[in-house]
Amino acid sequence: TAVAMLPSARAGAGAVALTFAGGLALLAVLYASFRMAFVDTLSGLPNRRALDEALARLSGNYAVAMIDIDHFKRFNDTHGHAAGDLVLKAVAAQLRAIRGGHAFRFGGEEFCVLFGGTHSRAATEACEEARRRVEQARVRIRSAPNPRRRTQAVKRNDASDVRVTISIGLAERDAVARTPQEVLKTADQALYRAKAGGRNNLV
Ligand code: GH3
Ligand code: MG
Ligand code: MG
Repeated sequence: TAVAMLPSARAGAGAVALTFAGGLALLAVLYASFRMAFVDTLSGLPNRRALDEALARLSGNYAVAMIDIDHFKRFNDTHGHAAGDLVLKAVAAQLRAIRGGHAFRFGGEEFCVLFGGTHSRAATEACEEARRRVEQARVRIRSAPNPRRRTQAVKRNDASDVRVTISIGLAERDAVARTPQEVLKTADQALYRAKAGGRNNLV
């Protein structure tokens, strides 16, 4: 727009510059609405809506992993929700790095990773590696006093390193679980067994 306003602009050049400015504004609006619709603001991962669309596009061989942070309510109660948010971001970053997988935030402290065209063995190894990396990672948080425990004497801005673990349920498409929704349900049941089996493991 500024270029179009230049007094030295040749005839026609102003119109071209204005059209270009309009096009840029339109692209910016489209990009912002796409992000609002499909990207989770906290983790930066694609959100549940994006997952539903990706599930609908799956075909052939694929595997689905459901991932849940262990004892996360207790973590929030102990360290505060701001620290919990940092942990969610850190776990999301580990899941984003999974080889051959595409990570989504399912909701809350639950994530989903889709492995399109991958053999379940490769998906298992990739998930197991992610579980180990999360277990070994340390997340730097600033401890906040818990307002519900008034006697707790924690200094503000006290930095500390914390660790969390994740449980994973993994399922692949087969003769029993044929549709993406059925595979997702099977993965969810496997996650339930991973929790019942002591957490910090993969079923
Ligand atoms: P389990 O090991 O069985 O999964 O136990 P859990 O405590 O992780 O499970 P539960 O479903 O009881 O608690 C989930 C917690 O996740 C409760 C909620 O406060 C927390 N949570 C969900 N979304 C967010 C978020 O965006 N930020 C933070 N800080 N916490 C969240
Ligand atoms: Mg949960
Ligand atoms: Mg949990």
